[in-house]
Amino acid sequence: MARVATLNERVARLQDSLDEPLLVTNPTNVFYLSGFRSSNAALFVEQDRVRLLTDFRYREAAASVDGVELVETPRSLLTGISKNVDGRIAFEAATMTYANWRTLTDAGLELVPTTGVVEKLRAVKSEGELTKIRAACAITDAVYAAMAEEPFVGRTERELAWKMELLFREQGADALAFDLIVGSGPTGARPHGRPSDLTVAPNTTVVIDAGCFVEGYTSDCTRTFATGDLPDDLARAYEVCAQAQRDALAAVRSGARGSDVDAVSRTPIEAAGWGDRYGHGLGHGVGLLVHEAPTLRPESEDVLEPGNVVTVEPGIYLEGEGGVRIEDLVVVTEDGCEILTGFTKELVTVS
Ligand code: ZN
Ligand code: ZN
Repeated sequence: MARVATLNERVARLQDSLDEPLLVTNPTNVFYLSGFRSSNAALFVEQDRVRLLTDFRYREAAASVDGVELVETPRSLLTGISKNVDGRIAFEAATMTYANWRTLTDAGLELVPTTGVVEKLRAVKSEGELTKIRAACAITDAVYAAMAEEPFVGRTERELAWKMELLFREQGADALAFDLIVGSGPTGARPHGRPSDLTVAPNTTVVIDAGCFVEGYTSDCTRTFATGDLPDDLARAYEVCAQAQRDALAAVRSGARGSDVDAVSRTPIEAAGWGDRYGHGLGHGVGLLVHEAPTLRPESEDVLEPGNVVTVEPGIYLEGEGGVRIEDLVVVTEDGCEILTGFTKELVTVS
């Protein structure tokens, strides 16, 4: 069927992959496909037309989106959808609530669940998207470099997190990508420990995990600092984690399985006897969201493609004592990967 309305290349790729019309309700996917950001919008994508559904509050902004037919709906978006479409349609199973599913089913629509259709497109970045991710990583590198000059010992984790948040803003970040993680000593032994009122002690590790948004795209980076000489097991954990991270980076390439790259990172950590102290996956995709496709973890079924942007972040967590994690953001290439985060991975000792 001839395409009357092709919004853009992304929508064209989506249309090529569809067996039936797709109702896109994930707001990030709506934004990716149309450039339209709204808390209450959906795209209904057919082979020959694309409808953008939103309510009165967004009508003016939606009217400037080229290549779509604008359908103004009541505030209850899906009530509006059921009046405008019929028959068999695919929907995004990860986003649709049961209540909304009932609304559409009661209106007589035949609903086909799908998962990851638009996410699969989002996983392969264009040069334009990579430019924004590179910019976010450059800011992140500068912030880590500035943090390395800060005194740590005697300040609380929350003070350090706030300092880092200010640095991100001063360096031009639009926003933080997620709540900063600053975990010293026992806090750092919890992979996603929140910055607390704990005062940073000497001779331990401080795990800092941070990223920022630039023009809608995020960075994600973790470095582990030392506050003086480390006890032997934490010093060794840093070496083992760094080795695991290097080995995993060397295994990232187009065609590699997410589960295989994850397994590579586990070998040196298991050999050191800390297999059970590395309880999370190796990495995840990054883009419009800080966690998206593809994934690098034992149960992943993803196969890496050129243009995927993923983290490589093994960790070792010694309960009650301290943690170590080293995370780079990389773009997958035909025969390897390009590392986008540039701050040193040598153990940096702070004062
Ligand atoms: Zn991170
Ligand atoms: Zn991450």
